[in-house]
Amino acid sequence: MRRTAYRNWERLSTGSPDHRSIPILAYHKIDDEAFTPYWVSARTFKDQMKALKNHGYETVSLEDIHRFRSGQGGLPSKPVVLTFDEGFHNFYTKAYPILKKYGCCATNFLLPAYIGDHTRFSSDWELDPVEEQYPTEHLLWSEVREMMADGIVFGAHTSHHLDLTGLSFSQAENEIAGSKEILQNKLGAPVLWFSYPFSKSSSWVEYLVRRSGYDGAATITERPFDTAGGDLFRMDRITIYRDDSTASDDNHPQDFFMNKVDPSFAHPDICDKSMDLRNSLS
Ligand SMILES: [Zn+2]
Repeated sequence: MRRTAYRNWERLSTGSPDHRSIPILAYHKIDDEAFTPYWVSARTFKDQMKALKNHGYETVSLEDIHRFRSGQGGLPSKPVVLTFDEGFHNFYTKAYPILKKYGCCATNFLLPAYIGDHTRFSSDWELDPVEEQYPTEHLLWSEVREMMADGIVFGAHTSHHLDLTGLSFSQAENEIAGSKEILQNKLGAPVLWFSYPFSKSSSWVEYLVRRSGYDGAATITERPFDTAGGDLFRMDRITIYRDDSTASDDNHPQDFFMNKVDPSFAHPDICDKSMDLRNSLS
């Protein structure tokens, strides 16, 4: 998954006259079983990556969007960003092999207080009893380093997964700037992207993120990000859920994965049907 291998679009011209909107997808857990809506099975995830590739999408990073915005880089014709929150161990065991297979890049937002050298700490902020029933452990530093060397980008998601809007200014700063510092020290590389726990932020929280030296921060709004006018410190993301299928189902149109990526996406079957209809009318 060396990044240079698939970035032919870097030579594309910058500053598209269109207001381009980019889907930034937000995943949480990828595993064999999907116990709650926030888990996506490895099989479904693989189908989704395959569908993106088959429909001409290319994964780009948040930094690519940042460069595009500042006129320093191009974007492919169909860009999509893949992000993961929390740094769960199943990202390494289930998602990473699939990302490699399909040549996709991704960003994972880590919680340094939960990443271990020898011990994988389990989530302890989950309120859903089903989630509590299946505690999910976190990555090891060695796994993070291995994936980073292979092109996966790591951002910060605070240290302890706390609601920043409920903290004091100095506590929030410790979580925002402190997690960046720990990650940079552990990984020996700049950590430039942040994700708000529970997608909760406020103007002073965003101010702290800017002041801590991040290039931007992700939230969840279920909308694509507007590269022309969108706020880099409040980047829209779209949650991908367990039931988001690459097969369109007339009874559950809201679950069609490609429509989450592109609301105007026309499924080939639908195109075929309308073509048939047009042909029969002509
Ligand atoms: Zn989170």
